[in-house]
Amino acid sequence: MARRYWLETLGCPKNQVDSDKIAGGLAEQGYRPAAEVAEADLVVVNTCAFIDEARRESLETVEGLAAQRRPGARLVVTGCLAERAGSGLRQGHPEIDAVAGFGEPLALGPTRRGRRRSLEVSGSGPAPRMDLLNMPRPPAAAPWAYVKIAEGCDRRCGYCAIPSFRGPQRSRSPEAILAEIEALGASEVVLVAQDLASYGRDGGRGERRLVPLLEAARELAQWVRLLYLYPSDLTDELISAILATGVPYFDLSLQHASRPLLRRMRRWGDGERFAARIAEIRREAPHAAFRSNFIVGYPGETEEDHDELLAFVSEAQLDWVGIFAYSEEQGTYSEGLDGRVPEPLVAERMAELREVCDEITERCRRDLVGSTTIVLVDRPGRARSHREAPEIDGLVEVPDDLAPGSFADVEIVGAAGVDLAALPVVPVGTAAEAGL
Ligand code: SF4
Repeated sequence: MARRYWLETLGCPKNQVDSDKIAGGLAEQGYRPAAEVAEADLVVVNTCAFIDEARRESLETVEGLAAQRRPGARLVVTGCLAERAGSGLRQGHPEIDAVAGFGEPLALGPTRRGRRRSLEVSGSGPAPRMDLLNMPRPPAAAPWAYVKIAEGCDRRCGYCAIPSFRGPQRSRSPEAILAEIEALGASEVVLVAQDLASYGRDGGRGERRLVPLLEAARELAQWVRLLYLYPSDLTDELISAILATGVPYFDLSLQHASRPLLRRMRRWGDGERFAARIAEIRREAPHAAFRSNFIVGYPGETEEDHDELLAFVSEAQLDWVGIFAYSEEQGTYSEGLDGRVPEPLVAERMAELREVCDEITERCRRDLVGSTTIVLVDRPGRARSHREAPEIDGLVEVPDDLAPGSFADVEIVGAAGVDLAALPVVPVGTAAEAGL
C-alpha cells in the first residue's frame, strides 16, 4: 500500500515551487498525496520565516496539523523556519518529529540527535540531498505556474534576513529553466527569485541574463510574467523585453519613497526617480500595470518620510500595493538600530497608507469598465488579464463556459472592489485565435 503524504506550504511563491519539487521527490519514492491530513503517513510543513508574523503562522500551522494527524504519522518541518532555527525548533515543540533544512531529505522518525535519519530508499542507503533548485516537478496543475530561476540573494537590505538563510544568489542555467517551463506546459509562467533582475550576476560577477531568458521563455509559454524586480535593475532593455511579452506588468520592490530612509534601509532610489521611471513606462505602454510593496515603521522613519511615501503613492497611482510593518530581524543591519517607531504609530501610518492605496486600486479598477483586454481563464468563471498576477491581485469574472487554459478577448462590464466582471467580445479558444 503506497505511503501517503500531506504537504502544507506557507510563505512566498518561491516556497510554492520548492513544495512542487518536494512533492515530485516524494512521488519518486513511492509516496502518494493524501486526501486529508488524518490519512497521511508523513505530514510535511514547508514553512516561512521572513518576519515574526510568518514564523508565528508557521508554528500555529505545525501545531494544527499535529492535532489532526493520525497516531504514528510523522510530522516533518522544512523550509525557511527549519533552515533558520535548525533542530532547536523541536525544543518546545515535541510534536515535531524531524526538522529538515533546505534540500535535506525529509527524515522518517527521530534519531538520537533528533534532526535527521535519512529517508531510506529501499535498500540503497540514505536518500541524497535534494537539489531543490533543479529537481523535476510535476506538470502544472493550473494554466499558470511559478518558475524559480535563482536561489538566494547578494544584496543586504537593512531589514532582511533572507540572505542569511537562503544564502548568496545562485542562478540556474537557462537550459534547466527552459526545460522546466516546457515540462510544465502552462499557458503562463511567473518567473520568481529573491532578486529576479540580478539573474545571472551571481556574487556581483558576470552579466545579468534575464532579458535573453525572457525572450527564450516566450517561445515556450504564451504569457511570461516577472515578480520581484529591484528598481535599480529596471533597465531600458528589460522594460522593452517585458513590454514585448504582452504582459506589461511591473512588480517593483520599492519598500519606501524617502531617499534618506531608503539609504538607512541600505537600498537604492527615491520617490522622484521611481515616479519618473513609472511615468516613462506609461508613456510607452499606457495600459501597463504596477505593483509594489512598502515597509512602514523602519527605524528612523519620520513624519516627513511617511508624508513623502503618501505623496509618492498618490503620484504613482500603483494598481496593487502590499504594506508590511517593520519587523526587527536577528542578524540584520537594522537590528538594534535607533529611532524605533512606536507600534501604535506604525499601525496608524499603515492604516493611512492602506486607505490611500486601496482608494487608488479601486478607482483604477473602475476606470477599466468599458475597455477590452485579453484574459487567461484560470478555472471556470475565473480569469486574469495582464494586470493581475496569480494569487496576489484581483481577478476577472467571466462566463463559466470559457475553457480553463484558454485566452479570451473580453470587454470589462463591471468592477466590484478589486475584482472585475467581463464578457467575451469574440469567444476564442487558443492564444493564436486571440491574436497573441
Ligand atoms: S533584495 Fe533585499 S529584500 Fe530582497 S531578498 Fe535580497 S536582501 Fe532581502
